[in-house]
Amino acid sequence: MARISFEEQAKQNVNKLIDYAVKKLYLQEYDVVYVKNQLLDLFSLTEPYEGPIKDYELYAVLDQLSDYAVRKKMIDENGKLNFETKLMGMLMPAPSKTVEMFDDIAAYKGTEAACDFLFKLGEDSTYLRRPDLDKNLIWEHEAERGNIIVTINLAKPEKTPEQVRLAKLAKGGYPKCMLCAENLGWAGNAAKPARQTIRTIPFELDGEKWFMQYSPYQYFAQHCIAVSAEHRPMCVTSSTFRRMLDFVDMFPHYFIGSNAALPIVGGSILAHDHYQGGKKVLPVFARPARRTYVMRNLPEVSISIVDWYNSIIRIESKNRAQALEAVNSFRTAWDDYTDETANIICATSQDGERVQHNAITPIASKNERGEYQFNLILRNNRTDEAHPFGIFHPAVELHNIKQESIGIIEVMGLFILPGRLSEEAHAIRDILTGKTPLDFKALADETHPLHKHLTMIAQLATDNGTDCSEKKASDAVTAYINTACEKILDTTAVFKNTDEGQAAFDRFIHTVIK
Ligand SMILES: [Zn+2]
Repeated sequence: MARISFEEQAKQNVNKLIDYAVKKLYLQEYDVVYVKNQLLDLFSLTEPYEGPIKDYELYAVLDQLSDYAVRKKMIDENGKLNFETKLMGMLMPAPSKTVEMFDDIAAYKGTEAACDFLFKLGEDSTYLRRPDLDKNLIWEHEAERGNIIVTINLAKPEKTPEQVRLAKLAKGGYPKCMLCAENLGWAGNAAKPARQTIRTIPFELDGEKWFMQYSPYQYFAQHCIAVSAEHRPMCVTSSTFRRMLDFVDMFPHYFIGSNAALPIVGGSILAHDHYQGGKKVLPVFARPARRTYVMRNLPEVSISIVDWYNSIIRIESKNRAQALEAVNSFRTAWDDYTDETANIICATSQDGERVQHNAITPIASKNERGEYQFNLILRNNRTDEAHPFGIFHPAVELHNIKQESIGIIEVMGLFILPGRLSEEAHAIRDILTGKTPLDFKALADETHPLHKHLTMIAQLATDNGTDCSEKKASDAVTAYINTACEKILDTTAVFKNTDEGQAAFDRFIHTVIK
């Protein structure tokens, strides 16, 4: 095989990118020369490669080009990912052109086909980095009270200490956050990722400017985010529900839901109003009603308690106005509802100020009959001495599995567990098979990487011994994680799944339906 210089390889790679963009990214014939010249200039290459190109794999081409950029001192090693995003951004249709294409497909084939187009463009442009996303572990736990999907997030690699240091230095005020509209085309820095490949679809929700984009994390099928054009805090009001119904009118194949607007029970970004959506594949959608009610003043609305771990009121109606009125009645009632027998206190006061604890996580969709459906998940974020992390938040015994907020995706039955758990589960399996000796003294040391799993290891070893087959060990660890996820969902239930808890739930519903 003939050896070629790095310059020659870079030139060939430029041609490969152009070939890819023509085939996958809608690069038009008249733009080919223009974009190629921009790429040559970027790499200070004086002329293009003229021969035929061989087969290639896009991510390998990007890797070679970002290595070349490091070699030429255009970037340093930590800037490679942002540089690859910049390259891909140069090959893509402009944001306005993308919206035009989206609208065209929506007009001819409907919004589901238009969303499929935008999603595929996201994958083909490497905005959604498929090879990384495919590293995530995922399995479904079948349980009588409702299946749970568990994912271990390996797509986001842990930052090196040097990257953490650079990220701290790079913190700036622009864009204000990761969701702001100003991310469109932004070059990124060590703290925030480059966004030349993101494409957003603008629209109005309840008369306000919003836009939609796909989540780079893709925790489930076509996981998308609706984002307010304005950087302002999360807030669940009557307008939230009108916006959500506008969204599902436009995208009936998706659900849309908002995290509760309070810490502990909310999402990780409370500073920018946004909703999460996507295909209706989350386990809660498949759950039947446990109990049904009618509202005398809203005859076209049906109300039910969902047969699920935590406390969900389902509101369904063909009539938009009645669905909205019902959902608002439950929201305002829950905001002020206290039932001390169930340990629910809606608000406390601190320094004379009201501190709100009751909140809801609303999810809107269209059901299989084409009716509007709201699933209202009742939440409360109060803490007390016995529950410093939250009365309805997993206690410390479950933190080895998940310590972070239990947000909208988890409460709907999809757990996103930290990447570290994959390696730790492996090490625990080795203890159960006897590959690693069980040493409680070593595990008791707080610096031991498995220290936080001490209780889990003790229980698994007692139940299974330490001479398990690989399969038995693996099944035992998975079963432990599955049970922990069930327990976490149970703790988030404000009305427990006991006779007393369900009687209390019934009392609350009767305060609204009268
Ligand atoms: Zn923002």
